Amino acid sequence: MKMNGAWGSGLTVVNVGYRSTNYWVISAGRSRLLFDIGWPGTMGQMRASLSRMGVPLGEIRYALASHYHIDHAGLAQELKRDGVPLLVLEVQVGAIPLVKRWTKPRDRYVEITTHDNVTISFEESRRVLDEIGIAGEILHTPGHSDDSVSLLLDNGSAFTGDLPPEAGSWDNAAALGSWRLLRERGARQVYPAHGPIRPVDPAPAP
Ligand SMILES: [Zn+2]
Repeated sequence: MKMNGAWGSGLTVVNVGYRSTNYWVISAGRSRLLFDIGWPGTMGQMRASLSRMGVPLGEIRYALASHYHIDHAGLAQELKRDGVPLLVLEVQVGAIPLVKRWTKPRDRYVEITTHDNVTISFEESRRVLDEIGIAGEILHTPGHSDDSVSLLLDNGSAFTGDLPPEAGSWDNAAALGSWRLLRERGARQVYPAHGPIRPVDPAPAP
């Protein structure tokens, strides 16, 4: 578990992850967003982790999955049942029904319904985040999957899910484009879904 203190922005970030996956809670006081949302069948573990890190479930205003793979979106439906709306980017809608394909009955995955989500465009993301006190935007960052998005805060913190590190992405044009976009928009620190927080790589030489 990693924890960062308050920043100049007034936002705090805690990692409520488990099973080698980071789940980030970005908080503006008691208004919070959960970025990446648990393995299927692990609601008990998620509750325990939130509680250990001092995050009341009732204060999470939205859950947002970086992309719809089971370790990133597995608890979406259970969180909705507990009153946490699911924030979905339009580019992700088609990926939601496919999650089921990657699960087995023993995973206890609860299928995500699509009629009751808060579905927005990237252009709308800044306004929606602003309503919950978080200054930033959501960007389309393919490279791991076409439905992958990143949350970029105005303080330079980028939550990138499974976007592969730039250094190893010489043959992945989509990933390189995503890193270019993140850098152009001011990303400085990477909060990945796996591994430690790290600086954004410097721009490659032209
Ligand atoms: Zn993935």
